[in-house]
Amino acid sequence: MELTVLGCATPYPQPGQPCSGYLITEDDTHVVLDCGSGTFAALQNHVSPAEVTALWISHLHPDHSADLLAWSNWALNTPGAPKISVYGPSGWADRLVHMLTGTDDATLVRETFTVHELHDGHTAIHGPLALTSRAVVHSVPTFGVRVESPTAHLAYSGDTEPCPALRSLADNTDVFLCEAGTVKPSRYHTTPDQAAETALGAHAKHLLLTHLAPDLDPHSVRVSDILTTIVTPGWRWTSDV
Ligand SMILES: [Zn+2]
Repeated sequence: MELTVLGCATPYPQPGQPCSGYLITEDDTHVVLDCGSGTFAALQNHVSPAEVTALWISHLHPDHSADLLAWSNWALNTPGAPKISVYGPSGWADRLVHMLTGTDDATLVRETFTVHELHDGHTAIHGPLALTSRAVVHSVPTFGVRVESPTAHLAYSGDTEPCPALRSLADNTDVFLCEAGTVKPSRYHTTPDQAAETALGAHAKHLLLTHLAPDLDPHSVRVSDILTTIVTPGWRWTSDV
């Protein structure tokens, strides 16, 4: 399994720093987790969108979902574009069609994408990748995901405060990709220390801190007792197997 960070900025993109997006690859299967602002352009540095079979969206805040519009415009303007599966919180297709057409008629979105709505415990299989979604705790309906393949187990937090579902997602993972969207413990986000606590409790092997709060200085982050990396756009992890 290979993880490529397309972007991890919050709450808006900056030059060379797209918002949340992660490309997961195993053999010829490519799945994208989240498509925040700027990630669709970043994706094309690595694979053609036509090679991606599924797009999974944690929640509908723009720093995780805004490039659904870019995906749509690509699909609508690319003859023969494959109809990829898109997984997201309930109502995502209706929200998208409002932005695209100003109407309630989701036909265009359903013709462009295979529409799936997530629920706690939702599972999906794409090639060698199995995705299990869990509802986590954020200011809007939000999911985290666990991705399993024959070579690795990875978990991605979405945006959440520490919660039992987050810990179960991270259970015995090779890499636990966890947001650190707040400096101090607060509702709806996780601090670096809380991410480390969750990773240790879940026996994750490697903690990847992402989506750092804008006022969180990466140099101030001191996490002990677990292998930790603060990821940046273009950062890549590959399983040993
Ligand atoms: Zn976010």
